[in-house]
Amino acid sequence: MSDAAAALANRARKSARSAGISFWELREGRCRFPLGLIHEPPTLFCGAPAVIGVPYCPDCGRLAYAPSSRR
Ligand SMILES: [Zn+2]
Repeated sequence: MSDAAAALANRARKSARSAGISFWELREGRCRFPLGLIHEPPTLFCGAPAVIGVPYCPDCGRLAYAPSSRR
C-alpha cells in the first residue's frame, strides 16, 4: 500500500470514528461501541472496522475491556 493510500485510509477511519454511524448502519465487522452520553440510549455507534472475533475496534476494545475505565 502506498503512503498516500495509507494516509487516506487513516483519515477515513478517523472521520468515521468521530462522526459515528447509526444503528441501521451497523453491520458485521463494524465497531458497535456506543457513542454519546452514558445515561442516554445509544443512537450512534463508533462504526470503525472491528477486530475479528470482537465487536469493537481496537480503540473501543481497550475502553470496553479496560478494568478501571468505568466511573
Ligand atoms: Zn470503535
